[in-house]
Amino acid sequence: MSDLRELYQEVILDHSRNPRNFGRLETANHRARGHNPLCGDDLTIYIAVEEEIVKDVSFEGSGCAISTASASLMSEILKGKTLEEVASLFGRFHEMVTGDPSEKAEVAPELGKLAVMAGVREFPIRVKCATLAWHALQAALEESEGIVSTE
Ligand code: ZN
Repeated sequence: MSDLRELYQEVILDHSRNPRNFGRLETANHRARGHNPLCGDDLTIYIAVEEEIVKDVSFEGSGCAISTASASLMSEILKGKTLEEVASLFGRFHEMVTGDPSEKAEVAPELGKLAVMAGVREFPIRVKCATLAWHALQAALEESEGIVSTE
């Protein structure tokens, strides 16, 4: 189990140091900014949707390792997904990171690499870091251009 934990930490560190899909997305037709005042994370999510399918996703901003890695991993998994699949993934991810910390997280197979975030449930203050990108994504898809705050 500790090997798995180390592997998970490596993935998180890798994605926080070298975030994928980082930067403004010129083709985006939705975007929203998410702010987590508890930690200082501040991310903007850009998303290009065509006929209910995610064509491209990117993000920019600054945040802690967890929020950056979560946004990076999210941006990777969302490309090519339908909006229905995106909503389902968010639900599964949210369940995984907010579940009872005394119980082992059940990781839905479709979450893929996002499974590395399962340990976050043991650190309630980090849950908002891990879900920030997803909340911003949801705001972007709902067409609100404002700032979402996790508070
Ligand atoms: Zn954070």
